[in-house]
Amino acid sequence: MNTERTLKLYNSLSGEKEVFQPLVPGLVGMYVCGPTVYSDVHLGNCRTFVSFDIIYRYLLNLHYKVRYVRNITDVGHLTDDGEDRMAKGSKVAQLEPMEVAQKYTVGFHEMMRIFNTLPPSIEPRATGHIPEQIDLVQAIIDRGYGYESNGSVYFDVMKFNTENPGKYGKLSGRIIDELFTETRELKNQEEKKHPADFAIWMKARPQDIMVWKSPWSTGFPGWHLECSAMSTKYLGQTFDIHGGGNDLKFPHHENEVAQSEGSCGHAPANYWLHTNMLLLNGKKMSKSDGNTITPEQLFLGESEHIEKGYTPMALRFFMLQAHYRSPLDITDHGLESAEKGFRRLMDNYKVLESLTPHTEDFDGSESATDRALLDLIEAAYSGMDDDFNTAVALAALNEMGGYFHKIANKQLDAKELAPWVLERLKTVYHNFIFEIFGLKEEADGGSDGTVDGLMSLILDIRANARAQKDFGMSDKIRDALAEVGIAVKDGKEGVSWAKG
Ligand code: AMP
Ligand code: ZN
Repeated sequence: MNTERTLKLYNSLSGEKEVFQPLVPGLVGMYVCGPTVYSDVHLGNCRTFVSFDIIYRYLLNLHYKVRYVRNITDVGHLTDDGEDRMAKGSKVAQLEPMEVAQKYTVGFHEMMRIFNTLPPSIEPRATGHIPEQIDLVQAIIDRGYGYESNGSVYFDVMKFNTENPGKYGKLSGRIIDELFTETRELKNQEEKKHPADFAIWMKARPQDIMVWKSPWSTGFPGWHLECSAMSTKYLGQTFDIHGGGNDLKFPHHENEVAQSEGSCGHAPANYWLHTNMLLLNGKKMSKSDGNTITPEQLFLGESEHIEKGYTPMALRFFMLQAHYRSPLDITDHGLESAEKGFRRLMDNYKVLESLTPHTEDFDGSESATDRALLDLIEAAYSGMDDDFNTAVALAALNEMGGYFHKIANKQLDAKELAPWVLERLKTVYHNFIFEIFGLKEEADGGSDGTVDGLMSLILDIRANARAQKDFGMSDKIRDALAEVGIAVKDGKEGVSWAKG
Protein backbone atom coordinates (compact mmCIF):
# COMPACT_ATOMS: atom_id res chain seq x y z
CA MET A 1 0.00 0.00 0.00
CA ASN A 2 1.21 3.49 -0.77
CA THR A 3 1.25 4.84 2.78
CA GLU A 4 2.58 8.28 1.88
CA ARG A 5 -0.67 9.38 0.29
CA THR A 6 -3.92 10.22 2.06
CA LEU A 7 -6.99 9.43 0.03
CA LYS A 8 -10.13 11.37 0.78
CA LEU A 9 -13.51 10.45 -0.57
CA TYR A 10 -16.90 12.06 -0.46
CA ASN A 11 -19.17 9.81 1.54
CA SER A 12 -22.86 10.28 0.65
CA LEU A 13 -23.73 8.88 4.06
CA SER A 14 -22.11 11.76 5.98
CA GLY A 15 -22.32 14.33 3.18
CA GLU A 16 -18.62 15.05 3.75
CA LYS A 17 -15.20 14.25 2.42
CA GLU A 18 -13.58 11.70 4.70
CA VAL A 19 -10.13 10.14 4.92
CA PHE A 20 -10.43 6.65 3.49
CA GLN A 21 -9.65 3.94 6.00
CA PRO A 22 -10.37 0.42 4.82
CA LEU A 23 -11.61 -2.16 7.31
CA VAL A 24 -8.46 -4.23 6.77
CA PRO A 25 -5.32 -2.24 5.97
CA GLY A 26 -4.23 -2.77 2.38
CA LEU A 27 -7.48 -4.45 1.28
CA VAL A 28 -10.57 -2.85 -0.26
CA GLY A 29 -13.98 -4.41 -0.82
CA MET A 30 -16.03 -2.43 -3.35
CA TYR A 31 -19.53 -3.20 -4.62
CA VAL A 32 -21.06 -1.30 -7.55
CA CYS A 33 -24.62 -1.79 -8.80
CA GLY A 34 -24.36 -3.14 -12.33
CA PRO A 35 -26.70 -2.87 -15.31
CA THR A 36 -30.21 -4.22 -15.72
CA VAL A 37 -29.73 -6.31 -18.84
CA TYR A 38 -33.05 -5.85 -20.63
CA SER A 39 -31.81 -3.50 -23.38
CA ASP A 40 -28.59 -1.95 -24.69
CA VAL A 41 -26.56 0.15 -22.28
CA HIS A 42 -26.82 3.86 -22.94
CA LEU A 43 -24.06 6.37 -22.54
CA GLY A 44 -25.31 7.45 -19.12
CA ASN A 45 -24.75 3.93 -17.80
CA CYS A 46 -21.32 3.98 -19.40
CA ARG A 47 -20.41 7.18 -17.57
CA THR A 48 -21.14 5.58 -14.22
CA PHE A 49 -19.15 2.43 -15.03
CA VAL A 50 -16.22 4.42 -16.46
CA SER A 51 -16.20 6.57 -13.30
CA PHE A 52 -15.98 3.49 -11.08
CA ASP A 53 -13.36 2.02 -13.39
CA ILE A 54 -11.19 5.06 -12.72
CA ILE A 55 -11.85 4.78 -8.98
CA TYR A 56 -10.91 1.08 -9.12
CA ARG A 57 -7.79 1.85 -11.13
CA TYR A 58 -6.68 4.55 -8.70
CA LEU A 59 -7.16 2.26 -5.70
CA LEU A 60 -5.01 -0.34 -7.50
CA ASN A 61 -2.50 2.39 -8.23
CA LEU A 62 -2.24 3.09 -4.51
CA HIS A 63 -1.37 -0.62 -4.21
CA TYR A 64 -4.55 -1.68 -2.49
CA LYS A 65 -5.64 -5.21 -3.16
CA VAL A 66 -9.20 -4.60 -4.34
CA ARG A 67 -12.07 -7.03 -4.62
CA TYR A 68 -14.41 -5.24 -7.01
CA VAL A 69 -17.88 -6.79 -7.26
CA ARG A 70 -20.30 -5.50 -9.91
CA ASN A 71 -23.54 -7.39 -10.38
CA ILE A 72 -25.77 -8.11 -13.32
CA THR A 73 -29.46 -7.46 -12.60
CA ASP A 74 -31.38 -10.09 -14.52
CA VAL A 75 -34.54 -10.34 -12.42
CA GLY A 76 -36.74 -8.33 -10.08
CA HIS A 77 -36.20 -4.79 -11.40
CA LEU A 78 -39.76 -3.70 -12.15
CA THR A 79 -41.01 -0.96 -14.44
CA ASP A 80 -43.16 1.78 -12.94
CA ASP A 81 -46.27 -0.18 -13.87
CA GLY A 82 -45.04 -3.27 -12.03
CA GLU A 83 -43.78 -5.45 -14.86
CA ASP A 84 -40.42 -7.20 -14.61
CA ARG A 85 -38.03 -5.40 -16.99
CA MET A 86 -36.53 -8.69 -18.13
CA ALA A 87 -39.94 -10.26 -18.84
CA LYS A 88 -41.01 -7.11 -20.69
CA GLY A 89 -37.81 -7.20 -22.77
CA SER A 90 -38.36 -10.85 -23.62
CA LYS A 91 -41.96 -10.27 -24.71
CA VAL A 92 -40.91 -7.45 -27.00
CA ALA A 93 -38.15 -9.54 -28.61
CA GLN A 94 -39.97 -12.90 -28.38
CA LEU A 95 -37.07 -14.46 -26.55
CA GLU A 96 -36.59 -16.41 -23.34
CA PRO A 97 -35.78 -13.98 -20.48
CA MET A 98 -32.39 -15.66 -20.15
CA GLU A 99 -31.75 -15.08 -23.87
CA VAL A 100 -32.49 -11.41 -23.32
CA ALA A 101 -30.15 -11.33 -20.33
CA GLN A 102 -27.41 -13.08 -22.27
CA LYS A 103 -27.75 -10.87 -25.32
CA TYR A 104 -27.48 -7.62 -23.38
CA THR A 105 -24.83 -8.92 -20.98
CA VAL A 106 -22.63 -9.74 -23.98
CA GLY A 107 -23.38 -6.28 -25.42
CA PHE A 108 -22.56 -4.64 -22.11
CA HIS A 109 -19.23 -6.47 -21.84
CA GLU A 110 -18.36 -5.49 -25.39
CA MET A 111 -19.09 -1.85 -24.61
CA MET A 112 -17.01 -2.01 -21.44
CA ARG A 113 -14.15 -3.45 -23.51
CA ILE A 114 -14.49 -0.66 -26.09
CA PHE A 115 -14.28 1.91 -23.29
CA ASN A 116 -11.20 0.08 -21.98
CA THR A 117 -12.63 -0.62 -18.52
CA LEU A 118 -11.10 -3.35 -16.38
CA PRO A 119 -13.38 -6.30 -15.63
CA PRO A 120 -14.56 -6.52 -12.01
CA SER A 121 -13.13 -9.26 -9.78
CA ILE A 122 -16.55 -10.90 -9.47
CA GLU A 123 -19.65 -10.30 -11.59
CA PRO A 124 -22.53 -12.13 -9.91
CA ARG A 125 -26.00 -12.45 -11.41
CA ALA A 126 -29.17 -11.99 -9.40
CA THR A 127 -30.72 -15.18 -10.83
CA GLY A 128 -27.67 -17.16 -9.70
CA HIS A 129 -28.27 -16.12 -6.08
CA ILE A 130 -31.91 -16.95 -5.38
CA PRO A 131 -31.17 -19.22 -2.35
CA GLU A 132 -29.06 -16.45 -0.77
CA GLN A 133 -31.89 -13.97 -1.31
CA ILE A 134 -34.45 -16.34 0.21
CA ASP A 135 -32.16 -16.75 3.26
CA LEU A 136 -31.94 -12.99 3.58
CA VAL A 137 -35.73 -12.59 3.50
CA GLN A 138 -35.93 -15.23 6.24
CA ALA A 139 -33.29 -13.42 8.34
CA ILE A 140 -35.25 -10.16 8.04
CA ILE A 141 -38.47 -11.95 9.09
CA ASP A 142 -36.65 -13.62 12.01
CA ARG A 143 -35.47 -10.26 13.33
CA GLY A 144 -39.01 -8.92 13.15
CA TYR A 145 -38.60 -6.48 10.24
CA GLY A 146 -40.35 -8.51 7.56
CA TYR A 147 -43.92 -9.78 7.39
CA GLU A 148 -45.74 -12.04 5.00
CA SER A 149 -48.94 -10.89 3.38
CA ASN A 150 -50.81 -12.93 0.80
CA GLY A 151 -47.64 -14.82 -0.25
CA SER A 152 -45.49 -11.69 -0.62
CA VAL A 153 -43.06 -10.47 2.05
CA TYR A 154 -42.67 -6.78 2.89
CA PHE A 155 -40.06 -4.87 4.82
CA ASP A 156 -41.66 -3.14 7.79
CA VAL A 157 -40.23 0.36 7.36
CA MET A 158 -42.23 1.88 10.24
CA LYS A 159 -41.08 -0.71 12.77
CA PHE A 160 -37.49 -0.45 11.55
CA ASN A 161 -37.60 3.32 11.80
CA THR A 162 -39.08 3.29 15.30
CA GLU A 163 -36.52 0.82 16.60
CA ASN A 164 -33.56 2.35 14.73
CA PRO A 165 -34.23 6.09 14.86
CA GLY A 166 -32.64 8.12 12.07
CA LYS A 167 -31.42 5.13 10.07
CA TYR A 168 -34.07 5.10 7.35
CA GLY A 169 -33.68 8.09 5.04
CA LYS A 170 -30.15 8.95 6.20
CA LEU A 171 -28.44 8.03 2.94
CA SER A 172 -30.87 9.77 0.62
CA GLY A 173 -31.25 12.68 3.04
CA ARG A 174 -35.02 12.54 2.96
CA ILE A 175 -37.28 12.83 5.89
CA ILE A 176 -39.52 9.91 6.52
CA ASP A 177 -42.84 11.68 5.89
CA GLU A 178 -41.59 12.69 2.47
CA LEU A 179 -40.66 9.10 1.69
CA PHE A 180 -44.12 7.88 2.56
CA THR A 181 -45.82 10.14 0.09
CA GLU A 182 -43.20 9.55 -2.62
CA THR A 183 -43.12 5.79 -2.67
CA ARG A 184 -43.49 4.46 -6.19
CA GLU A 185 -44.66 0.98 -5.30
CA LEU A 186 -48.31 1.83 -5.57
CA LYS A 187 -49.56 -1.63 -6.39
CA ASN A 188 -50.48 -4.14 -3.71
CA GLN A 189 -50.98 -1.31 -1.21
CA GLU A 190 -53.74 -3.27 0.49
CA GLU A 191 -51.24 -6.03 1.37
CA LYS A 192 -48.93 -3.63 3.15
CA LYS A 193 -49.08 -2.38 6.73
CA HIS A 194 -47.80 0.98 5.57
CA PRO A 195 -47.41 2.58 2.10
CA ALA A 196 -43.64 2.97 2.58
CA ASP A 197 -43.11 -0.77 3.10
CA PHE A 198 -41.31 -2.36 0.16
CA ALA A 199 -41.45 -5.89 -1.19
CA ILE A 200 -38.54 -8.21 -0.44
CA TRP A 201 -40.34 -11.23 -1.93
CA MET A 202 -43.15 -10.95 -4.46
CA LYS A 203 -45.75 -13.61 -5.10
CA ALA A 204 -45.96 -14.36 -8.81
CA ARG A 205 -48.97 -13.31 -10.83
CA PRO A 206 -50.14 -15.52 -13.71
CA GLN A 207 -48.28 -13.35 -16.25
CA ASP A 208 -44.93 -13.57 -14.41
CA ILE A 209 -42.47 -15.92 -16.08
CA MET A 210 -39.30 -15.66 -13.99
CA VAL A 211 -40.36 -17.41 -10.80
CA TRP A 212 -38.87 -19.59 -8.05
CA LYS A 213 -40.25 -21.60 -5.14
CA SER A 214 -39.88 -20.10 -1.67
CA PRO A 215 -41.35 -20.75 1.81
CA TRP A 216 -43.91 -17.98 1.18
CA SER A 217 -44.98 -18.50 -2.42
CA THR A 218 -43.76 -19.16 -5.92
CA GLY A 219 -42.46 -15.77 -6.88
CA PHE A 220 -39.36 -13.63 -7.21
CA PRO A 221 -37.15 -11.45 -5.03
CA GLY A 222 -37.61 -7.69 -4.67
CA TRP A 223 -35.11 -5.66 -6.68
CA HIS A 224 -33.18 -4.22 -3.73
CA LEU A 225 -32.58 -7.63 -2.22
CA GLU A 226 -30.10 -8.95 -4.78
CA CYS A 227 -27.44 -6.35 -4.01
CA SER A 228 -27.71 -6.96 -0.26
CA ALA A 229 -27.43 -10.73 -0.75
CA MET A 230 -24.54 -10.64 -3.22
CA SER A 231 -22.50 -7.94 -1.49
CA THR A 232 -22.77 -9.87 1.80
CA LYS A 233 -21.82 -13.13 0.13
CA TYR A 234 -18.69 -11.81 -1.57
CA LEU A 235 -17.59 -8.92 0.65
CA GLY A 236 -19.04 -9.64 4.09
CA GLN A 237 -21.80 -8.03 6.16
CA THR A 238 -19.93 -4.73 6.27
CA PHE A 239 -17.46 -3.77 3.57
CA ASP A 240 -15.63 -0.62 2.47
CA ILE A 241 -17.22 1.03 -0.56
CA HIS A 242 -20.66 0.80 -2.15
CA GLY A 243 -21.26 2.70 -5.38
CA GLY A 244 -23.79 3.49 -8.06
CA GLY A 245 -25.39 6.40 -9.89
CA ASN A 246 -27.00 9.01 -7.65
CA ASP A 247 -30.43 8.10 -9.04
CA LEU A 248 -30.09 4.85 -7.08
CA LYS A 249 -29.79 6.54 -3.67
CA PHE A 250 -33.51 6.25 -3.19
CA PRO A 251 -35.14 3.82 -2.98
CA HIS A 252 -32.53 1.23 -4.02
CA HIS A 253 -29.60 2.06 -1.73
CA GLU A 254 -31.72 3.34 1.13
CA ASN A 255 -33.51 -0.02 1.12
CA GLU A 256 -30.25 -1.92 0.89
CA VAL A 257 -29.13 -0.21 4.10
CA ALA A 258 -32.44 -1.12 5.77
CA GLN A 259 -32.18 -4.75 4.61
CA SER A 260 -28.65 -5.17 5.95
CA GLU A 261 -29.41 -3.49 9.26
CA GLY A 262 -32.68 -5.37 9.39
CA SER A 263 -31.14 -8.80 8.77
CA CYS A 264 -27.94 -8.65 10.81
CA GLY A 265 -27.79 -5.31 12.62
CA HIS A 266 -24.84 -3.98 10.60
CA ALA A 267 -24.53 -1.22 8.02
CA PRO A 268 -23.55 -2.68 4.63
CA ALA A 269 -20.85 -0.20 3.65
CA ASN A 270 -18.69 2.39 5.38
CA TYR A 271 -18.44 4.68 2.35
CA TRP A 272 -21.18 5.30 -0.22
CA LEU A 273 -20.01 6.82 -3.50
CA HIS A 274 -22.50 8.21 -5.99
CA THR A 275 -21.77 9.34 -9.53
CA ASN A 276 -23.65 12.19 -11.10
CA MET A 277 -25.77 11.88 -14.21
CA LEU A 278 -24.85 12.22 -17.84
CA LEU A 279 -27.23 14.70 -19.40
CA LEU A 280 -28.44 15.15 -22.93
CA ASN A 281 -30.02 18.49 -23.80
CA GLY A 282 -29.68 19.43 -20.13
CA LYS A 283 -31.88 16.50 -19.02
CA LYS A 284 -30.93 13.15 -17.48
CA MET A 285 -30.17 10.61 -20.18
CA SER A 286 -32.60 7.78 -19.75
CA LYS A 287 -33.82 4.80 -21.73
CA SER A 288 -37.36 5.00 -20.45
CA ASP A 289 -38.15 8.52 -21.70
CA GLY A 290 -36.24 8.32 -24.99
CA ASN A 291 -33.77 11.10 -24.11
CA THR A 292 -30.91 8.84 -24.94
CA ILE A 293 -28.07 8.12 -27.29
CA THR A 294 -26.33 4.77 -27.60
CA PRO A 295 -22.54 4.57 -27.66
CA GLU A 296 -22.71 3.18 -31.20
CA GLN A 297 -24.74 6.16 -32.39
CA LEU A 298 -22.17 8.46 -30.86
CA PHE A 299 -19.21 6.64 -32.43
CA LEU A 300 -20.85 6.67 -35.84
CA GLY A 301 -22.32 10.16 -35.56
CA GLU A 302 -25.76 8.71 -36.24
CA SER A 303 -27.97 10.69 -33.91
CA GLU A 304 -30.02 13.82 -34.25
CA HIS A 305 -28.38 15.06 -31.06
CA ILE A 306 -24.84 15.34 -32.45
CA GLU A 307 -23.25 16.59 -35.65
CA LYS A 308 -20.53 13.99 -36.10
CA GLY A 309 -19.05 10.85 -34.57
CA TYR A 310 -16.51 10.69 -31.75
CA THR A 311 -14.15 7.87 -30.83
CA PRO A 312 -14.46 5.84 -27.61
CA MET A 313 -11.30 7.40 -26.18
CA ALA A 314 -12.44 10.94 -27.01
CA LEU A 315 -15.54 10.07 -25.03
CA ARG A 316 -13.61 8.60 -22.14
CA PHE A 317 -11.51 11.77 -22.10
CA PHE A 318 -14.74 13.83 -22.15
CA MET A 319 -15.84 12.01 -19.00
CA LEU A 320 -12.43 12.51 -17.35
CA GLN A 321 -12.67 16.26 -17.85
CA ALA A 322 -15.49 16.44 -15.32
CA HIS A 323 -15.41 15.30 -11.70
CA TYR A 324 -17.56 12.20 -11.24
CA ARG A 325 -19.88 14.05 -8.82
CA SER A 326 -20.66 16.85 -11.30
CA PRO A 327 -23.34 16.53 -13.93
CA LEU A 328 -22.00 16.29 -17.48
CA ASP A 329 -23.95 17.48 -20.50
CA ILE A 330 -23.33 15.94 -23.94
CA THR A 331 -22.82 18.66 -26.54
CA ASP A 332 -20.87 18.80 -29.80
CA HIS A 333 -18.84 21.66 -28.43
CA GLY A 334 -17.82 19.68 -25.33
CA LEU A 335 -17.08 16.54 -27.33
CA GLU A 336 -15.00 18.39 -29.89
CA SER A 337 -12.86 20.01 -27.24
CA ALA A 338 -12.44 16.59 -25.57
CA GLU A 339 -11.35 15.16 -28.91
CA LYS A 340 -8.70 17.86 -29.19
CA GLY A 341 -7.73 17.49 -25.53
CA PHE A 342 -7.23 13.75 -25.93
CA ARG A 343 -4.98 14.28 -28.97
CA ARG A 344 -3.02 16.97 -27.14
CA LEU A 345 -2.41 14.66 -24.18
CA MET A 346 -1.21 11.82 -26.41
CA ASP A 347 0.97 14.27 -28.29
CA ASN A 348 2.49 15.54 -25.02
CA TYR A 349 3.32 11.95 -24.19
CA LYS A 350 5.05 11.39 -27.54
CA VAL A 351 7.10 14.57 -27.13
CA LEU A 352 8.06 13.54 -23.60
CA GLU A 353 9.16 10.11 -24.82
CA SER A 354 11.37 11.77 -27.45
CA LEU A 355 13.29 13.82 -24.84
CA THR A 356 16.68 12.40 -23.89
CA PRO A 357 18.37 12.99 -20.53
CA HIS A 358 21.03 15.63 -20.46
CA THR A 359 23.73 13.75 -18.58
CA GLU A 360 27.16 15.02 -19.72
CA ASP A 361 27.53 18.24 -17.75
CA PHE A 362 24.69 17.75 -15.26
CA ASP A 363 25.84 19.26 -11.95
CA GLY A 364 23.24 17.59 -9.77
CA SER A 365 21.36 20.77 -8.86
CA GLU A 366 17.61 21.20 -9.08
CA SER A 367 16.41 23.98 -11.40
CA ALA A 368 13.24 26.08 -11.17
CA THR A 369 11.85 23.98 -14.05
CA ASP A 370 12.55 20.78 -12.12
CA ARG A 371 10.75 22.16 -9.11
CA ALA A 372 7.79 23.37 -11.15
CA LEU A 373 7.42 19.97 -12.79
CA LEU A 374 7.76 18.09 -9.51
CA ASP A 375 5.05 20.35 -8.07
CA LEU A 376 2.82 19.53 -11.02
CA ILE A 377 3.36 15.80 -10.48
CA GLU A 378 2.30 16.29 -6.89
CA ALA A 379 -0.72 18.35 -8.02
CA ALA A 380 -1.84 15.54 -10.34
CA TYR A 381 -1.72 12.91 -7.59
CA SER A 382 -3.23 15.29 -5.02
CA GLY A 383 -6.12 15.85 -7.41
CA MET A 384 -6.79 12.12 -7.48
CA ASP A 385 -6.39 11.90 -3.69
CA ASP A 386 -9.04 14.56 -3.35
CA ASP A 387 -12.07 12.39 -4.11
CA PHE A 388 -10.69 11.20 -7.48
CA ASN A 389 -10.69 14.64 -9.11
CA THR A 390 -9.64 13.69 -12.63
CA ALA A 391 -10.24 17.24 -13.89
CA VAL A 392 -7.55 18.62 -11.58
CA ALA A 393 -5.13 15.82 -12.47
CA LEU A 394 -5.68 16.41 -16.21
CA ALA A 395 -5.02 20.13 -15.85
CA ALA A 396 -1.68 19.36 -14.15
CA LEU A 397 -0.72 16.90 -16.91
CA ASN A 398 -1.53 19.51 -19.53
CA GLU A 399 0.60 22.10 -17.83
CA MET A 400 3.50 19.64 -17.73
CA GLY A 401 2.96 19.13 -21.47
CA GLY A 402 3.71 22.82 -22.06
CA TYR A 403 7.22 22.27 -20.64
CA PHE A 404 7.83 19.19 -22.82
CA HIS A 405 7.04 21.13 -25.97
CA LYS A 406 9.22 24.07 -24.91
CA ILE A 407 12.17 21.76 -24.30
CA ALA A 408 11.62 19.90 -27.57
CA ASN A 409 11.39 23.23 -29.48
CA LYS A 410 14.51 24.46 -27.67
CA GLN A 411 12.61 27.43 -26.22
CA LEU A 412 13.80 26.02 -22.92
CA ASP A 413 17.28 24.62 -22.36
CA ALA A 414 17.27 20.84 -21.93
CA LYS A 415 19.79 21.36 -19.11
CA GLU A 416 16.87 22.75 -17.09
CA LEU A 417 15.62 19.21 -16.66
CA ALA A 418 17.52 16.91 -14.30
CA PRO A 419 17.83 13.37 -15.74
CA TRP A 420 16.07 11.85 -12.78
CA VAL A 421 13.16 14.33 -13.10
CA LEU A 422 12.83 13.39 -16.77
CA GLU A 423 12.73 9.70 -15.84
CA ARG A 424 10.12 10.41 -13.18
CA LEU A 425 7.99 12.41 -15.63
CA LYS A 426 8.04 9.55 -18.11
CA THR A 427 6.90 7.09 -15.46
CA VAL A 428 4.20 9.41 -14.10
CA TYR A 429 2.81 10.41 -17.49
CA HIS A 430 2.62 6.79 -18.60
CA ASN A 431 1.05 5.80 -15.30
CA PHE A 432 -1.65 8.46 -15.53
CA ILE A 433 -2.60 8.03 -19.18
CA PHE A 434 -2.63 4.25 -19.45
CA GLU A 435 -3.07 2.92 -15.91
CA ILE A 436 -5.13 5.49 -13.99
CA PHE A 437 -7.15 7.17 -16.74
CA GLY A 438 -7.34 3.95 -18.76
CA LEU A 439 -6.85 5.72 -22.08
CA LYS A 440 -5.24 3.99 -25.03
CA GLU A 441 -3.94 4.80 -28.46
CA GLU A 442 -6.62 4.66 -31.12
CA ALA A 443 -6.30 3.84 -34.80
CA ASP A 444 -3.17 1.86 -34.16
CA GLY A 445 -1.54 1.94 -37.56
CA GLY A 446 1.45 -0.15 -36.51
CA SER A 447 4.93 1.24 -36.94
CA ASP A 448 4.95 0.54 -40.67
CA GLY A 449 1.46 1.95 -41.26
CA THR A 450 0.12 -1.36 -42.62
CA VAL A 451 -3.26 -1.05 -40.93
CA ASP A 452 -3.68 2.56 -42.07
CA GLY A 453 -2.82 1.51 -45.61
CA LEU A 454 -5.27 -1.39 -45.58
CA MET A 455 -8.02 0.72 -44.06
CA SER A 456 -7.57 3.38 -46.69
CA LEU A 457 -7.88 0.69 -49.36
CA ILE A 458 -11.05 -0.78 -47.80
CA LEU A 459 -12.62 2.65 -47.41
CA ASP A 460 -11.83 3.44 -51.05
CA ILE A 461 -13.64 0.27 -52.09
CA ARG A 462 -16.58 1.28 -49.94
CA ALA A 463 -16.62 4.83 -51.35
CA ASN A 464 -16.64 3.30 -54.80
CA ALA A 465 -19.61 1.09 -53.90
CA ARG A 466 -21.50 4.12 -52.58
CA ALA A 467 -20.72 6.12 -55.69
CA GLN A 468 -22.35 3.30 -57.65
CA LYS A 469 -25.29 3.35 -55.23
CA ASP A 470 -24.43 -0.16 -54.06
CA PHE A 471 -25.48 0.58 -50.49
CA GLY A 472 -25.81 -3.13 -49.70
CA MET A 473 -22.06 -3.58 -50.29
CA SER A 474 -21.21 -0.36 -48.47
CA ASP A 475 -23.17 -1.48 -45.37
CA LYS A 476 -21.70 -4.96 -45.58
CA ILE A 477 -18.18 -3.51 -45.41
CA ARG A 478 -19.12 -1.28 -42.52
CA ASP A 479 -20.72 -4.20 -40.61
CA ALA A 480 -17.77 -6.50 -41.29
CA LEU A 481 -15.40 -3.86 -39.94
CA ALA A 482 -17.63 -3.37 -36.90
CA GLU A 483 -17.34 -7.09 -36.22
CA VAL A 484 -13.57 -6.76 -35.89
CA GLY A 485 -13.99 -3.73 -33.65
CA ILE A 486 -13.49 -0.95 -36.22
CA ALA A 487 -16.13 1.78 -36.33
CA VAL A 488 -16.52 3.66 -39.60
CA LYS A 489 -18.01 7.12 -39.35
CA ASP A 490 -19.58 9.07 -42.17
CA GLY A 491 -19.19 12.59 -40.86
CA LYS A 492 -19.60 15.96 -42.48
CA GLU A 493 -15.85 16.20 -43.02
CA GLY A 494 -15.69 12.84 -44.79
CA VAL A 495 -15.24 9.24 -43.75
CA SER A 496 -13.07 8.29 -40.78
CA TRP A 497 -12.52 5.18 -38.73
CA ALA A 498 -11.54 4.21 -35.21
CA LYS A 499 -10.56 0.97 -33.60
CA GLY A 500 -12.49 0.15 -30.39
P1 AMP B 1 -29.62 0.51 -14.84
O1 AMP B 1 -29.19 -0.41 -15.96
O2 AMP B 1 -30.75 1.40 -15.20
O3 AMP B 1 -29.87 -0.28 -13.57
O4 AMP B 1 -28.39 1.50 -14.55
C1 AMP B 1 -27.07 1.07 -14.39
C2 AMP B 1 -26.24 2.18 -13.77
O5 AMP B 1 -26.22 3.34 -14.61
C3 AMP B 1 -26.76 2.67 -12.40
O6 AMP B 1 -25.69 2.85 -11.51
C4 AMP B 1 -27.42 3.99 -12.74
O7 AMP B 1 -27.40 4.87 -11.64
C5 AMP B 1 -26.53 4.50 -13.84
N1 AMP B 1 -27.19 5.50 -14.70
C6 AMP B 1 -28.43 5.44 -15.26
N2 AMP B 1 -28.67 6.56 -15.99
C7 AMP B 1 -27.55 7.33 -15.90
C8 AMP B 1 -27.16 8.61 -16.43
N3 AMP B 1 -27.95 9.32 -17.22
N4 AMP B 1 -25.92 9.09 -16.11
C9 AMP B 1 -25.08 8.37 -15.33
N5 AMP B 1 -25.39 7.16 -14.80
C10 AMP B 1 -26.60 6.65 -15.08
ZN1 ZN C 1 -27.82 -2.46 -6.48
